[in-house]
Amino acid sequence: MDGTTGGPLIETARLAWRDGQPVSEQFGDVYFSRENGLEETRYVFLHHNHLPERFRELSDKDTFVIAETGFGTGLNFLAAWQAFRQYAPASARLHFVSVERYPLGSADLERALALWPELAPLARELAHNYPQPLSGCHRLVMDQARVRLTLYFGDAVEAFDSLEFSADAWFLDGFAPACNPGLWQDRLIRQVREHSHRGTTLATFTAVGRVRRALSDVGFRMERVAGFGPKRDMLRGVLEQGSHRSAEPTGQILVVGAGIAGAMVARNLAVRGYQVTVADQGESPGAGASGNPQGALYAKLGVQLNDQVRLALAALLHAQRFYPAETPEQWHPTGLLMMGYSEHERERQQKFLRANTYPRTVLYPVDDQKASDLTGIACPQGGLWFPRSGWLEPARVCQSLLEHPNIRTEFQFRATRLLPCNNRWCLSGEGRQDLVADTVILAAGHLTRQLMPVTGEFRIKAIRGQITGIPSDRLTAAPRAVVTGARYLNPPADGQLVTGATFDLRDNDPLVRTNSHQENLEGLDSMLPGLLAPRIKPTDDITGRVSFRCTTHDYQPIVGPLVNGEGNTLGGAWLFTGLGSKGLMWTPLMAEYLADLITGEPLALPHSLTRRVHPARCLAAARTSESPA
Ligand code: SAM
Repeated sequence: MDGTTGGPLIETARLAWRDGQPVSEQFGDVYFSRENGLEETRYVFLHHNHLPERFRELSDKDTFVIAETGFGTGLNFLAAWQAFRQYAPASARLHFVSVERYPLGSADLERALALWPELAPLARELAHNYPQPLSGCHRLVMDQARVRLTLYFGDAVEAFDSLEFSADAWFLDGFAPACNPGLWQDRLIRQVREHSHRGTTLATFTAVGRVRRALSDVGFRMERVAGFGPKRDMLRGVLEQGSHRSAEPTGQILVVGAGIAGAMVARNLAVRGYQVTVADQGESPGAGASGNPQGALYAKLGVQLNDQVRLALAALLHAQRFYPAETPEQWHPTGLLMMGYSEHERERQQKFLRANTYPRTVLYPVDDQKASDLTGIACPQGGLWFPRSGWLEPARVCQSLLEHPNIRTEFQFRATRLLPCNNRWCLSGEGRQDLVADTVILAAGHLTRQLMPVTGEFRIKAIRGQITGIPSDRLTAAPRAVVTGARYLNPPADGQLVTGATFDLRDNDPLVRTNSHQENLEGLDSMLPGLLAPRIKPTDDITGRVSFRCTTHDYQPIVGPLVNGEGNTLGGAWLFTGLGSKGLMWTPLMAEYLADLITGEPLALPHSLTRRVHPARCLAAARTSESPA
């Protein structure tokens, strides 16, 4: 942060290029050795952590975790990834956790990595996924999900306090202790110990006595060995105390619900190599709230940068990386206008812009003229433009996510109850044979509550939403981008434009109603006057669909272990619901996080954000007074 701006933007690295090599102006030190940075990385970090041998010994579905201080140019990461490809079995996966206080800008990153032609394909994939300079935790999934990178932009000590992982090997990089005493504090050394287990190794280019003593004081058996090239020595160590890392057995996995939540987490686990069964009462994916023909991808970011906003922003950015890569055919990157449609909303947007600085790749303000140019329709007001947002076809997204050889589906399975049986879970369905699994994920929207084998109030609400489909020829013009405000309006698809949705509390009517169409048409007309053909009536050739959003008191999703009234977790059962009308936005990141929890891998969310989504907060006893985001 440069002290003058608020918001999530983080100060990037200031580099000087000497003889074509990057040098940090902030620290006055080199990113890698002048002789041969790649060979140095291989020698110091890979060889002295015995990575080639350890990679070779991995077995099916093992995940090897490397943690690093100082991501810098990503050279160490790419070298580890390359070695992993070379030595590890095809079914094993690599998880790399790294922190960076001053992230390189994309152009600098690409320039630095261009020094290593043999890493070019990996460098390209990293550059393609490289996060924008926003503070906090970013999760990148690469190499067809064989490699995950949890990259925290912020201070190392802060990062290791808030991340949850246990490393098999450490790369202690981060500039020489003399140039960067702030990093090599005892507190950081203690964190390295806390995020390690018996057998964890470490390597570092430095041989400073204080660092060696601090590491051996926390339990690492340290050794001084010959350094790379002209450097006399370096350190390596191994932790010989504590317990071994325990792998989480998942056994058979059952997901209840084939909407966007269920499909997303099933896909995530399937890609990680697990066999998953998905059961749903519908005849096909997305029969419930995820079955609308169109859905917009956006998040409403609050004025103050609090944890709610951080969570929504992280999810939005993750979704914007996920859909183009994983469901390109259902993804329409048109951009999205959040219109300042009322005095109140205009004021909110002004306050928001005064309090925050975002990169233009995330959002920027536009006036009415610019808004009209971008959307292709006359906008009476400007607003916030999200250039990387757009719209999706939710049911088709669900369908395509479920098409994976590791996923088996059971449609028309009307689940009636879930009970523990012999340390497993047993799901009964009307007229169907029970489904038995070791791990069960309830992702059934508002129907989740009735399947939870716990007593007591669990606070989720079903909120009726009706959408209205208008034939394209009933509008005077069609937008080429998504417009949101009093209503949303998507660009035309299949000869119609979809607008909506109503927000009907305490209304469980499943039928399409004329008054709801009326409400949608009036909302649209007030937001974009003149767009609707005059005298359009809700009875004209208009189509509709009703579904029920599952919403929580604090408008945050529910992702985590199933808990009973006393707050105890029920082993092997998980909840994934409470996504409101933002399932498309929440699920790519939340499915990542839930799959991390289930498989015991480094978590995609820092502690401050995992608390926001924990199911326990929806137990009646945990009642708090919170306002919507
Ligand atoms: N591993 C990197 C690579 O492969 O290119 C080289 C790392 S470079 C020698 C050290 C990095 O540590 C710099 O990018 C620097 O900004 C970062 N760093 C220094 N102090 C830090 C801190 N307190 N927290 C997080 N990162 C820090």
